[in-house]
Amino acid sequence: MFKRILIANRGEIALRVIRACRELGISTVCVHSTADADGPWLEWADERVCIGPGPSAESYLRIDRIIAAAECTNADAIHPGYGFLAENAEFATVCRDCEIAFIGPSPEAMALLGDKVSCKRMARKAGTPVFPGTEGAIEDPEEARTVAAEIGYPVIVKAAAGGGGRGMRVVEDEASLMEAIESAAQEASAAFGNGSVYIEKYLAKARHFEVQTIGDGRGDAIHLFERDCTSQRRHQKLVEEAPAPGVDPEKRAAVCESASRLIAAAKYGGAATVEFLMDDKQDFYMLEVNTRVQVEHPVTEMITGVDIVKEQIRVAAGNPLSVRQDQISVNGHAIECRINAEDPDRNFMPQAGLIETFDPPGGLGVRLDTHARSGYRIPPNYDSMIGKLIVHAPTRDEAISRMLEALRQFRIGPMKTSIGLHRRLLDRPEFRTFDFDIKWVEHWLAEQD
Ligand code: ADP
Repeated sequence: MFKRILIANRGEIALRVIRACRELGISTVCVHSTADADGPWLEWADERVCIGPGPSAESYLRIDRIIAAAECTNADAIHPGYGFLAENAEFATVCRDCEIAFIGPSPEAMALLGDKVSCKRMARKAGTPVFPGTEGAIEDPEEARTVAAEIGYPVIVKAAAGGGGRGMRVVEDEASLMEAIESAAQEASAAFGNGSVYIEKYLAKARHFEVQTIGDGRGDAIHLFERDCTSQRRHQKLVEEAPAPGVDPEKRAAVCESASRLIAAAKYGGAATVEFLMDDKQDFYMLEVNTRVQVEHPVTEMITGVDIVKEQIRVAAGNPLSVRQDQISVNGHAIECRINAEDPDRNFMPQAGLIETFDPPGGLGVRLDTHARSGYRIPPNYDSMIGKLIVHAPTRDEAISRMLEALRQFRIGPMKTSIGLHRRLLDRPEFRTFDFDIKWVEHWLAEQD
């Protein structure tokens, strides 16, 4: 097992990794920027190293400084968390070259699944359901036209290297196809240095369904069932829950198994999420694979009892997974609300500054993953998420009631947060009966303006 892990991240996920390391008897080093010098999570690390100023390009994204910090502190592994360098194959390669274990997949597996075209090709082979569309990147405009006509409009043009919704165009008819391909390719090449784009069927009404998997890096993988993340605003998830409500058990089993087959086939080591869209007939289509631990991993931990971060660490150290597929079952229902310091009434403007009041909720089945507390000053440089409130209860209805009470008892001030928005959202009949798709929350918010 590792002796010392360097955490190349900040905030709640840095704290989450510290907790897992402590339980495994591993000491921790946290790197941080000058803007995070007072970060409460740093108090719980065994060592800390400042790697640069506030802007992440000068600190959390600096591979050279992070590696230097790992070498100076004798860390034998690096946990990248999510965001920043977590899905950067070059970083994983540099770690390997420096003989520091990267807690995540090999650079090869990351590149294979991170590129949407190669990932889709591999998924087809593994029997993971994908969107109908072009086989690979578009080479010939005629082929694009034929494929789009075959699958039927609307279609969507997407970037092979895509991320954050860039290089994506919905196309309603053949007349606008060529222009969409060109502009998507240009945007993708500017954003990712790779202008490859492909076409797939566009689903106008869909739910977001994702399968948590863990691979051992040697061709074996398990899944920890699924999460539903249909409540989104601008493709940012707001509420996540597990299991996904109302899905046919046989279809659900088939898609979960197909996800772990894909991860096994890629000889992937560590946690990965296979994301799907599900239509109203409960047919599934793979969107992409995220090659990292995700923000919403706690809901899966609550219903399965598996500590996903500890499994990541075990696998990266060359140990087998600690659980077999037949030992994993779903217990109850879990919901997570992302607590963001932003003002829903002012176009979700991020709120930096001093937290004066921080009264967290508690009680049976209530979990709070946060680095915030009263007296903490939120720096303006990073993501506005200051915590995740997670509840676990025997049924979805009880979980909603538990969450509503936990939100009611959660006080943060003086800045605005997403707490009030979550209270209104969870109280909606559409949410209770789970009668909505990925566009609904945004429509509902627009109606309130
Ligand atoms: P990115 O990596 O840029 O975030 P994704 O492939 O994850 O791209 O897609 C982002 C979002 O775009 C999805 O969550 C979904 O809302 C929408 N989307 C992508 N592909 C389709 C599709 N084929 N049909 C309908 N919506 C889609």
